[in-house]
Amino acid sequence: MVRRGSRVGNRVRVRFGTKAELLAGGAEVRALRYQRASQDKKEQGKSVTDQGKLNVKEINSHGWMDAGSFTDNDRSASRHATKEREKFELLIEAIRAGKGDVLVIWEMSRKERDLAVYVKIRDMCHEVGLFFWLVGGVLFDLRDKNDRMMLGFQAVQAEWMADSIRDNVLRGIVGAAEAGRPHGTVTYGYRRIYHQRTKALERQEPDTEIRTATAADGTLTEYTHAGVVREIFEQVSGGTPLITIEQSLNARGIPSPRGARWLRGIIRKMAMNPAYIGKRVFRGEVVGDGIWPALVDEEVFWASVRLLEDPSRTTTRAGRAVHLLSYIVLCGVCGGPVSSSTVSRHGWTGQVYSCLKKRCAAVKAEVLDEYVQRVVVAWLARPEVFEDLQSGIGDEQVAHARAEAERLRTELEDYKKAAEAGDVKAIDFVRISKGLEAQIAEHEAREAEAGIPPVLRGRIGPEAVSAWAELGDEVGVKREIIRTVAGIKLLPARYKGDRSPFGAHRLDWTWKFGPDSDQDTTAA
Ligand SMILES: [Zn+2]
Repeated sequence: MVRRGSRVGNRVRVRFGTKAELLAGGAEVRALRYQRASQDKKEQGKSVTDQGKLNVKEINSHGWMDAGSFTDNDRSASRHATKEREKFELLIEAIRAGKGDVLVIWEMSRKERDLAVYVKIRDMCHEVGLFFWLVGGVLFDLRDKNDRMMLGFQAVQAEWMADSIRDNVLRGIVGAAEAGRPHGTVTYGYRRIYHQRTKALERQEPDTEIRTATAADGTLTEYTHAGVVREIFEQVSGGTPLITIEQSLNARGIPSPRGARWLRGIIRKMAMNPAYIGKRVFRGEVVGDGIWPALVDEEVFWASVRLLEDPSRTTTRAGRAVHLLSYIVLCGVCGGPVSSSTVSRHGWTGQVYSCLKKRCAAVKAEVLDEYVQRVVVAWLARPEVFEDLQSGIGDEQVAHARAEAERLRTELEDYKKAAEAGDVKAIDFVRISKGLEAQIAEHEAREAEAGIPPVLRGRIGPEAVSAWAELGDEVGVKREIIRTVAGIKLLPARYKGDRSPFGAHRLDWTWKFGPDSDQDTTAA
């Protein structure tokens, strides 16, 4: 691109007095061109590339000099407002510095939607002596009252078009995403946003409205529906019994989705609802992605589902006798599951784990339970494992949590700007910002622990031994932990009637995380 020497400060120097002079100016005329991308993918109109080509064609046909091209590629106007401003500001700078004799744009709506901005640029151009605009191949002189009226009319029309397009886009999005559209009653934790004019569904988003609950003793608690959902998933995935969650919610006076008291069944159903990871469910089957964002990490969701579907959890009553390792330990000979059964032999009666299909291997249940727990807890307590879980795996999750925190911070900034401009009432802003800040804090906390599977959080490293002891009869949680960290195979005794003590030679371990992962190690 060829540029003239700096002309900063050299203002109001009319180089071309009339349209005719400009059109006859040839290479002496410095043309600034501006292209702007659509705000939405579905928006009608020419692409940035097409606008650019058309503008270049106009400039070439008049033999003018291309004195600078300014392209706004950004698609989203509100979110990336700062980025979008950059090119626009550069254009303003170039105009102000007197670097152009004519401004070439393809259509009014492409330059700027805002009428006020149009007026501002027009006045600025007038002030610095950039009197000519070439819009869609038609030349306008800003000093000519008729031309000004025509441009003004185009700007008004552009705004009207932009508004209409926005409405059409909204309808289009809804139409195209028909399959992923939320339907029926709103899933607890979300709210639906409808377009003010068209009443069309715009989006379904996390319900972060701050509400106040009153406990029986009068204690007030602030909560959000989205927050309650996340709390439930966090607790379920961490192995908290449903009854504890139920009691905690009711104690705070937080109403259930139907406005009554929470029941375990409601919580269980919620903690298994794929809508919370952004999936659409039809007749109990996931049929695709919804158009709404996930409220919880997939990892947390699936950990919750696994825990709730575990046979030991078919009842939520704590302390029920279930078998710790059934179907978790596999037979080292045939690969089938190992299950527990009562055996009476030689005057001894008790529980035995044995290969379910072929009886390849067997061991007394209490011996295997005790041994496996000891090895797993020792593994969980290892500092290397703790470090490895904190850094290595889950990078994607960390990145996601970070990105989400970043997005929310941007949203908060947008609200701040809107509040400053008076577009959002102060009272609403306080409420909104409070909710967003809470969400940001939540994501930041998740950034820190994202690498650790939900069921292991607070149960590894220095906390491993005490956390395991605290689990007591929570067999379901212990099962989930064991299943999460290790693959265990039971090997047969070395020979029939082998009386040697049970030990490392009877098990084959595969660690799923940590320094020993991806290699078969025999636990000592
Ligand atoms: Zn077997």
